[in-house]
Amino acid sequence: MPSKLLSNGPPAPEKRVPPSRPTAILHRTPSQPPIAVSGEGINVTLDDGRVLIDAIGGVAVACIGNGHRVVQKAIRDQADKLAYVYNLQLSNEPAEELARMLVDSGKGAFEYCGFFAGGSEAMEGAMKLARQYWFEKKQPQRKNFISRHLSYHGNTVTTLSLSGHPTRRVPFEEILHHDNFHKVSPAYAKRFQRPEESEEQYVERLCQELEDTFLTLGPDTVIGFVAETVVGTSTGALAAPKGYFKAIKSVCRKYSVLFILDEIMCGMGRMGTTHAWESFGDNEPPDIQTVAKGLGGGYASIGAVLVSKEVAEAIRDNNGFWKHGHTYQAHPLSCATAIAVQKVIAAENLLENGRQTGEYLAELLRERLQSPGALAEPFTFDVRGGGSFWAVEFDFTGPTGKTLNLKGKQFASVVTTRCMEHGLLVMGRSGGANIKGTEGDHIILAPAYNITKKEVERVVDLFVESVEEVLRESL
Ligand code: PLP
Repeated sequence: MPSKLLSNGPPAPEKRVPPSRPTAILHRTPSQPPIAVSGEGINVTLDDGRVLIDAIGGVAVACIGNGHRVVQKAIRDQADKLAYVYNLQLSNEPAEELARMLVDSGKGAFEYCGFFAGGSEAMEGAMKLARQYWFEKKQPQRKNFISRHLSYHGNTVTTLSLSGHPTRRVPFEEILHHDNFHKVSPAYAKRFQRPEESEEQYVERLCQELEDTFLTLGPDTVIGFVAETVVGTSTGALAAPKGYFKAIKSVCRKYSVLFILDEIMCGMGRMGTTHAWESFGDNEPPDIQTVAKGLGGGYASIGAVLVSKEVAEAIRDNNGFWKHGHTYQAHPLSCATAIAVQKVIAAENLLENGRQTGEYLAELLRERLQSPGALAEPFTFDVRGGGSFWAVEFDFTGPTGKTLNLKGKQFASVVTTRCMEHGLLVMGRSGGANIKGTEGDHIILAPAYNITKKEVERVVDLFVESVEEVLRESL
């Protein structure tokens, strides 16, 4: 029976077996995606019996894969004990324990935290907290947020207003907030660092731009500067140049602007350290931080806002509470699940495994895609990332003069579809950024931290095979 779902996101495979069951979901993809019925480790089984290797962890979520017995037991135990209480009336043990774990993970950077049902909710919470901070500090004139082009901070109207991702903003542009939302350049050295500039000079230029924006708006009107520590879906596992966040934070400090990091995708171990900001020499913790995907590892729908002492105290010493809440905030089942996921990561030393297998993945990708003579070599613009978070960016505007005939489709989307046909889940975005100089297509690979080296080899085989097939057919 044809699906009634208006589906989102990367296209479903074209040569797919039609869905075996009718559905009533309003889908996010243009056509009915295949239906998953079970999962074990990095493998996901569909209702037609096919088994897919999930090399993107859902969407950088499933950090310990599916079917982990320890987590399954923790979920059952918590469901037996206490499923739900309303967070405005009662706190609960798992929420208290998880909050303590997250605060401790910041090694002094954070004093409190709050839980939400996912990433966008956490970002909304962070934005309202930042605004409330200034309200409590008797500076209600602070109403401006500054974020970056080529960024994604969520899908609600406010978080999409903060996001610098043009294709996601269509067709909502007219209902997004514009007045108090300002954008500065992304930190994207490989594309935007000028030939005559050193990395240091590039960072200086970006800092100058931020400072100029503060001055134009009036620094005492700015609430905060918001950035993804490592950019996720907009550009693909893109880290800032060395020294960037340290320098940016000092510009924020100079004008008493809050420094807010979105680690919804890149945090909670994805970069090989608990917080992505720990992965760089800078080691610059933010005033407010959001995390989500890797927190519950896909076993629970949960996000969190981590709050520094300074911000938390301004709230507690004045109004006394954070004026923001949702029904499913600090959900006992979600929190108990997240505790179990985090304990598995620690007990099985998965950050170390993620770092090692991630390096191996990158090494194989570079070898197979970028070696002289490799079919994809002239078009592979970059292989970048860290930990268990990698992306390959392709570019067809180079000196080869060759253009692809993809019948109006985008390379990354076609490759993503082809990968799925070969039994591999990855996530491609094409020209998503769509701003001058960024014509690239990128494909993200963000597997579970407990992937094995053997599984990495299979992932690379299927991925390179798919890329080369599409290139051969369209060159
Ligand atoms: N921020 C970043 C950096 C993200 O990658 C995402 C989701 O991909 C979000 C915010 C929104 O999170 P959610 O999809 O859980 O609402």
